[in-house]
Order: sequence, then C-alpha cells, then structure tokens
Amino acid sequence: ATAPLLSAADIRRLAGELDVRPTKTLGQNFVIDGNTIRRIVAAAAVDPAETVLEVGPGLGSLTLGLLDAARRVVAVEIDPKLAARLPQTAAAWRPDAAGRLDVVLSDAMKVTELPHQPDALVANLPYNVAVPVVLHLLEHFPSLRHGLVMVQDEVADRLAAVPGSKIYGVPSVKAAWYSQMRKAGVVGMNVFWPAPKIASGLVAFTRHEPPVTRASRREVFAVIDAAFAQRRKTLRAALAGWAGSPALAEEALRAAGVDPGARGEVLDVAAFARIAEHKPAG
Ligand code: SAM
Repeated sequence: ATAPLLSAADIRRLAGELDVRPTKTLGQNFVIDGNTIRRIVAAAAVDPAETVLEVGPGLGSLTLGLLDAARRVVAVEIDPKLAARLPQTAAAWRPDAAGRLDVVLSDAMKVTELPHQPDALVANLPYNVAVPVVLHLLEHFPSLRHGLVMVQDEVADRLAAVPGSKIYGVPSVKAAWYSQMRKAGVVGMNVFWPAPKIASGLVAFTRHEPPVTRASRREVFAVIDAAFAQRRKTLRAALAGWAGSPALAEEALRAAGVDPGARGEVLDVAAFARIAEHKPAG
C-alpha cells in the first residue's frame, strides 16, 4: 500500500488552522491531488540515496511524497507560518521520516547555504519567481545534478526551448548554460487550491558542463541579456551598446564566427560564450 498524501480536505483544514490565506505574491497554489504528487515524484526519478531540495513546501503536499522517495528532504520556505508547521505535519504523516527533513526559513532566491548538499531539486515553484529561483540554485549549489520543477506551462516551454524556436529567449539560454532541460508534461488547474488561471508544466533537467570558454559566466550572461533586450534587432544592432558601437559589435561577432545580421534567437549558449570572449577592450 502507498503512504497517504494530503487530500483537498486536509489542505483546507491545515490552512484554516494556520489562518493561511494563499497569496498571489508568494505564488501560493497548493496541490490538493495525490495523483499529481505521485506523478511529479515519479517524473523526478529521485534515487533513494539522494538528498532532495524542495523550494516552497507550503503545507507539505509534495514534501510527503518526496520523503517516500528520497533519503532526505531539505525544504526552503519563505512563509514563516508554513515553515513552522511543516515539521509537525511531516511527523504526523510520516513518523518513519523522523530526522530526514530539514526546514529552512529563507528566500530561495537568496539562500547560499543548506544543512545538506542537495543532489536534486524537486519543487512546485512559486510562479512569479520560478526562473530566477532555478538559475540561482543551479549557480550556488553545484551538487544539484538533476531535478524536476513545476512552473507555468509557458515558462516550462521557454526553459526547454531550443535555438530557432519562437519562445527561445533569456531563460532558455541561461538554463542551457547549466543543464539540459526538457518538458515532462502538462498539469491542469483543478489539482490546485486555489486554482490558478493557467495551466502548469513540468520541466526536468540534468546538469551538464557549461561550454568551454575563456569568458566568465557573468560576461556570457551580459551578452545574452543584451542580445535579447531588443529581440527584433540584428545582433550587430542589439550588441552595439555592449561592444561600444555597431562596428565594434560587428567585429566581435565576426571574430566569434557569428553572422552579425542574425538575431539572438538562433544562437546556442556556446555561440554566446564565443561572442563574450571577443568583447572589445575598453
Ligand atoms: N509545494 C506546495 C504544494 O505543492 O502544494 C506549495 C507550492 S506553492 C506553488 C509555492 C510555495 O513557495 C508557497 O508555499 C510559497 O509560500 C513559497 N514561496 C514563495 N516564494 C518563495 C521564495 N522566494 N522562497 C521560498 N519559498 C517561496
């Protein structure tokens, strides 16, 4: 038999006890459907020896599922009421998980230290900050080898987009610096309380080495930001500010083997890294 998960009634009761009114600013949409939790945990392919980092555990819907699959769960929650209640919920629903859950009261966009090195990131992310949270964690926790996140469906598509597609942009290229991202499914609105107005998507990722380059990560990201700040412009025009002038931008692009008349949306992260290496001095 599988261990029980929080039902819709449990979620409402817990929220009532804590006097939690879900807020949009914190992206508080709680999963009320056990099948969705099982689906997320299965798609995450967590190894039983792994430590999982969960961002935004909320009332604990996904946390319980992760405690069944992983050795440890480190849960980072920004809302003090939710963070304070989570150990108690875990103890009541998973007495066998004693000592395997750490709750950290913190903003996941700022956290740089955790009680255990995480192997995987599995989270139903707060939607307004999903991309910066993923990029921050990939940057600061090199031990994160893989993961699966639930985000707005459109953001899932953006993260997994490949060069040349319409929705390929800054999140796609920056995510590709760290990892290979792939779309792992769509989730409807009615599995949440309160129900969001748009569908959600699952994205799975596996870390890989960034492209080999003499430029730093910051330098490469600066080129990416500049190239997409003016999406419709050619790279020659979009990178004029970055290089100092359109002529210098053209020179840098040619040196990097990139057509100055092309647009940023056709370049992969390795091409952005080559451009960064040829930034004109001064
Ligand atoms: N994991 C729960 C579930 O699936 O039912 C809740 C998911 S809810 C979409 C997002 C959660 O992230 C909320 O609990 C919210 O308080 C928390 N949160 C919002 N912003 C955060 C941040 N910057 N750092 C950490 N947690 C955050």
